[in-house]
Amino acid sequence: MLELTTPVQYVKGIGPKLAEILATKEIATVGDLLNYLPFRYEDRLNPRGIAELRAGEMATVIGEVRNSGLFRTRRMPIFQLTVGQGRSRLRCLWFNAAYLQDKFKPGELIALYGKVEQDPKSCELQIVQPQFEMLGDAAAEDADDKAAASLEVGRIVPIYESAGQGRVTARWFRRVIRKALDDLTPDLAETIPAAVRGRLALVSPREALWKVHWPEAGESSEDLQSSRTPAHIRLIFEELFFIELGLELKRRQQKAETGIPFRLDDRVRQAIKKILPFHPTTAQKRVLKEIADDMQKPYPMRRLLQGDVGSGKTIISFQAAIIAIENGYQVALMAPTEILAQQHYFSARRILENAGYRIVLLTGSLEADRKREIRRHIAQGNAQLVIGTHALLEEKVEFARPGLVIVDEQHRFGVLQRLKLMKKSGEGSEGRAQTAASEGSAQIPEKNLAEPDVLVMTATPIPRTLALTLYGDLDISVLDELPPGRTPIVTRRITDDQSPKVWDFVRKQVVAGHQAYVVYPVIAESEETELKAAIKMYRELSGKIFADLKVGLLHGRLDADLKDQVMRMFQKGELQILVATTVIEVGVDVPNATVMVIEHAERFGLAQLHQLRGRIGRGAAKSYCILMTGGKVTEEGERRLDAMVRTNDGFQIAELDLELRGPGEFFGTRQAGMPNFRVANLIRDWQLLELAKREAAAVMAGPNSEVTQAEISRALVALRTRWQHTYGLVEVG
Ligand code: ADP
Ligand code: MG
Repeated sequence: MLELTTPVQYVKGIGPKLAEILATKEIATVGDLLNYLPFRYEDRLNPRGIAELRAGEMATVIGEVRNSGLFRTRRMPIFQLTVGQGRSRLRCLWFNAAYLQDKFKPGELIALYGKVEQDPKSCELQIVQPQFEMLGDAAAEDADDKAAASLEVGRIVPIYESAGQGRVTARWFRRVIRKALDDLTPDLAETIPAAVRGRLALVSPREALWKVHWPEAGESSEDLQSSRTPAHIRLIFEELFFIELGLELKRRQQKAETGIPFRLDDRVRQAIKKILPFHPTTAQKRVLKEIADDMQKPYPMRRLLQGDVGSGKTIISFQAAIIAIENGYQVALMAPTEILAQQHYFSARRILENAGYRIVLLTGSLEADRKREIRRHIAQGNAQLVIGTHALLEEKVEFARPGLVIVDEQHRFGVLQRLKLMKKSGEGSEGRAQTAASEGSAQIPEKNLAEPDVLVMTATPIPRTLALTLYGDLDISVLDELPPGRTPIVTRRITDDQSPKVWDFVRKQVVAGHQAYVVYPVIAESEETELKAAIKMYRELSGKIFADLKVGLLHGRLDADLKDQVMRMFQKGELQILVATTVIEVGVDVPNATVMVIEHAERFGLAQLHQLRGRIGRGAAKSYCILMTGGKVTEEGERRLDAMVRTNDGFQIAELDLELRGPGEFFGTRQAGMPNFRVANLIRDWQLLELAKREAAAVMAGPNSEVTQAEISRALVALRTRWQHTYGLVEVG
C-alpha cells in the first residue's frame, strides 16, 4: 500500500532512474505525484465525428491513420497526415516537421486535439499542428494492451505535461498515476478540520485525487478546464490552507518572542515631530502610527511597509529610528546598493544630525581601518543610527543595543535574505531565553533577551494575493498617497530613429533649469557588450549631442568613490544629464530631474521600468518619461510598454507584471523563497487563498466549539510531514 509520503520510486512502473527524472519536476513522493495535475482534459468519451466538425472550434478527434507524407514547399517541409473515420477524412498539417516521418503506421488509432480550420484553397477542414497521441493498433487483441487502452479512450482523459525530454510522456503519467491511485492506502487521513470542510463543502481527499485525474463522464468541461470542479477546489484549498497554516504558526511563534516595549511619551513624540521638514501626508501619519503601535508592544515588530516609489517612506523610517534611539537603542538601516546607502546617509545627516543623533555609514568599500573604527563605535553603542548595505548582515557587526532593523527596498534582497536577517538578529537569544526561564535567574541583561523590531520597506507594490502568501508572516502597512504637489508623469513611446527629437526635448528641459536621466539597459552589470554600448552612447552624448552641457556617467563597475562623486554632483545640480545603467533603479532622489529617457525600453521588465520612472516626478515640475525602442518588440514587450504609457499606478503595474511573468519570476528566482505551488495558481485562486488564510487563522486560534485539539494536532502533523518539505517558507518548530 502506498502512503502519500512514500517515495515515488516505489510506485509500480517507476524505478530509481525514472524517479530521478521526476525529481527534476520536484516530484519526490506519491503525494507529489498525485498532485501533478493534468493541465487539460480531452473528452474522448464523445469524440467528434469528422463529418460534424466546424471551422474555428477546438476539437478532439479519434481516428485511424490512413496515410502520411512529407512534401516540400519553397519555404519549408510540411508533414501531412490523413486520418479517417469510416468514409470521412481529416487532414492534419505540421510545418517544419520532418521528424514526424515514419511515425504513423496506417491502421493505428490516433487522438488529435487542435483548432479546426478551413483550408482557403480547397475549402476542406483541417487541423494545423494538432497535439496528438498514438492509441495503438485499432485491432489489438492483447488483453494488457486493451486494459491500457481503456485509459486512453472512451472517457474524459487527463493530459499531463511531459518530462525528461519527452521520455516521460503524458501517456506514461496517465498510467503511473493510475497505478499509484490503485495502490493508494484506502484510509487516507483527513487532515483538514471538519468545520472547515463543512463550510467549504470539501470532498474527501481520496475522492478529490481520483476525480481530478479521472473525472466522471458527467463532469462539466468548463469546470474541468478552469480547475473549478469539487476535486480541484479540494486540492487547491488544501495546498493553500497548509501554507497559510505554516505562516500563521510562524507568526504566532514570533508574537510569543520577547521584544522591546519601546516607550512613546511626550518627549519622544516631540523628538519625532521636530525633525519633519514638511507636513506628513495622511497616509504617512497613519503608517507611522501603525509602526509606533507595534514598537510599543512587548513582542518584536515584523512589519512590511509597502509604498510606491516617491511615496515618502524614508522619513517614516527615520521617525521609527528616533523612537528606538530615544529609548536608548541602536538602529540599523540597510539598503541594497552602496549608492542608496550613501543617499540615505546624506539625508539622515541632513535631517537628523542637527537634532544631535550620531549616524555612521558602513559599506563594503570602506578601507579596512575605517571599517574597524566604525565597528567599534557600533559595538560600544556610540553610533545610534547605522546605515549600510547588506554587508551589515554578512560582516561581523555587533551592536551594543540593537533595537530596530530597517530594510529598505526589500524587493532587491530576496526573501531568503530577509529570513537570514531575522535569524541573525535573533541569533542565540532564543537559547538564552530558555536557559533564563529554566534557571529562573534574572542575571542575564535585558538586551540579550529581547528581539529587535524589524521594518521592511518595499517600493514593489506587491499585489494583495502575493503579499498574503509571501509575507503572510508579516503585518503590512500601505502608503497609498503621494506627497502633495506632484503632477503625474507623462510617458511616451518613441522609436529610436526619432532620437534627434528626443534630444531636442531633453535640451529644452535642461535649459529651463531641470535635469535629465538617460538610461541604458545594462541589466546584468557583468555584461561586457552591454556596458560598452552604454559607454559609447555616453561619449556620443557628452562629446557631440550635448557637448555644451554637463553630462555624467554612472554604472555599476565604477569604483565606489567615483560613483559617489558622480551621484553627488548630479544631486547638487553640477551635472545636468546623467547617463546611467540600472544602478539608479532604486531610491535615488533628485527632485529637480524631470526627464527620463530609457533606451531599448523593450528590454526592461515592467517592474524595472516602473522603478526607473519613479526617479522622476519627485518635484513640483511636470516630468516626462520617454521610452525609446530599437528593433522588434515582442508581444509581451508591447504589453509592458503599453502598460507604462497607460498608467502610473504601481499596483496596476504590479498586477500586470505578475500576470506576465507568473508568481515564480515575480520576485526573481524561486530561490528567493517564493513557494512553488503544485496545484494552486495565485492569479486564478486568490479568493481561495483568502479563504485559506482566514480558516488557518481560525484553526490556530485554538480549540473551541468548532475545532478540537485533536484536529489541530492532526493538521500540524500533516503540515510537518507532508507539506513542510515542499515549501521552504513554512518552517515548523
Ligand atoms: P520613497 O518612498 O520612494 O523612498 P522618498 O522617501 O525618497 O520616497 O520620498 C520622495 C520625495 O518626497 C523626497 O524628496 C521626500 O523628501 C519627499 N517627501 C516625502 N514626504 C513628503 C511630504 N509629506 N511632503 C512633501 N515632500 C515629501
Ligand atoms: Mg526610498
